[in-house]
Amino acid sequence: MPGLKGRAAVITGSTSGIGKGIAERLAAQGVDIMLNGFGNRDEISSLEDQLKSDFGVRVAYSGADMSKPEEIRNLIRQAQDLYGGVDILVNNAGIQNVAPIDEFPEDRWDAVIAINLSSAFHSIKAALPGMKDKRWGRIINVASAHGLTASANKSAYVAAKHGVVGLTKAVALEVATQGITANAICPGWVLTDLVRSQIEARAKESGRSFEEEKRILVSEKTPTQDFSTPEQIGELAVFLCGDAASQMTGAPYSIDGGWMAQ
Ligand code: NAD
Repeated sequence: MPGLKGRAAVITGSTSGIGKGIAERLAAQGVDIMLNGFGNRDEISSLEDQLKSDFGVRVAYSGADMSKPEEIRNLIRQAQDLYGGVDILVNNAGIQNVAPIDEFPEDRWDAVIAINLSSAFHSIKAALPGMKDKRWGRIINVASAHGLTASANKSAYVAAKHGVVGLTKAVALEVATQGITANAICPGWVLTDLVRSQIEARAKESGRSFEEEKRILVSEKTPTQDFSTPEQIGELAVFLCGDAASQMTGAPYSIDGGWMAQ
């Protein structure tokens, strides 16, 4: 099976958490990487250096804001200019906002929809013509268990993630005969910054310790009572990019400790 060496990937929101895990696992396969996301510039530079030295791949970084369509188009253009194309597009950047719908701030609704859903539309639109020219492409949208089911107080996130799963299916159909696949990964709980801040907010409200609240949070929804890791999600992304997955398209893949089995 021809490997992924020499392919180029854009991974949005890859300065931390799941996106970083996906970037590391793809780099380990010899894929050139365009990192994106916010964060401390020194930490991002050391991540770039680490991926280059560990895996001998080319690594670049763009601070493009995924809520801004023009910046998304620039990100894709920058990667195309640098690497001669975007073979693998991972739409991963995301934010959360927890509030009952009648108290949900309107600007937070707009931000969640823009970053978690519309950004994937803009990046796919920009990257697809190049993939069609090469007759090869892999689009991976990081949705969520909340792309398949709901939880209270997460209306914008649940709406965005269901939208991402729908967008994935629509794109997959449009490019099905052109060597391009589009799939969604649907993680359950992963202990990243996005989830740490939710545990902190819950601990503040309940008066319990972070560790105790963490245990309660994961056990509420997850039959295995444990978190998935960014590395495990990275390995699933690698599999979806490989030849063995060329007939896997238009589908959501759960990696959620059994959440969806309930
Ligand atoms: P995280 O907070 O660690 O990472 C989010 C990344 O997105 C960071 O790199 C951040 O800088 C970037 N980002 C945020 N806003 C951005 C913007 N406007 N423009 C560019 N980059 C931006 O969180 P994570 O848990 O790794 O989340 C990654 C994805 O996984 C999200 O789409 C999230 O919804 C999804 N997800 C997470 C979990 C979980 O339990 N952690 C579960 C299911 C799905």
